[in-house]
Amino acid sequence: MKKILFANWKMNPTTEQEAVKLARAGDVKNAVLIPPFPFLNAVKNVLKSASVGAQDVFYEEKGAFTGEVSPQMLKKLGVQYVVVGHSERRRLGENDEMIAKKVKAGIHAGLKVILCVGEPLSVYKKGKKATEEFIKKQFRFIKDKKNLIVAYEPIWAVGTGKNADPEDVARVVQFIKNIASVPVLYGGSTNSKNAKSFLEKKEIAGLLVGGASINVKEFQKMIKIAERF
Ligand code: PEP
Repeated sequence: MKKILFANWKMNPTTEQEAVKLARAGDVKNAVLIPPFPFLNAVKNVLKSASVGAQDVFYEEKGAFTGEVSPQMLKKLGVQYVVVGHSERRRLGENDEMIAKKVKAGIHAGLKVILCVGEPLSVYKKGKKATEEFIKKQFRFIKDKKNLIVAYEPIWAVGTGKNADPEDVARVVQFIKNIASVPVLYGGSTNSKNAKSFLEKKEIAGLLVGGASINVKEFQKMIKIAERF
């Protein structure tokens, strides 16, 4: 299977026009573009080859949940993937139990779910065992594995420009594969300079790219690199 680049645009860009431009620039088979909710429809409508994903989802189908979006709403819109448990959402208070409910609801609605896991710097500093124990705990409520993809994102490497060592990443990714038996991505300040070092690891199924995915030139370089694998 070709290695896939998942482009997490986070809360960018600021206009639909820019979102459509970004979408056209990243419209290749091995890319999944993940824009903010208001741009999902416009992005989906211009894509010919890439897939589209959402950055979050709620676990109920409908009801009095102000501000939330259900998996069924995303599915009906033509969204194929959804990110759940991103560290930037965990930081706002999401916990493992809530995240597991989102994973379950997303999968049951027919979405492919990208579950983000990864340790903070304080745990990383304690060593391999501490990191593995931390990640294992993040799986304790996860029961659904069909259509599940995991993204290993060490929190200290997300949006910081700090690069994890590809060897260490491959080892943690293998640890996750042993727990979950699903494809595992890597994410954490990846760019056109370091993409190869992660993609060449057989354990890593693709990359979840944040900052570099909204830089057209940078993302297109990464696409070319990923196509070689
Ligand atoms: C992300 O948003 O999942 C991410 C990995 O961001 P960045 O590439 O900017 O570190």
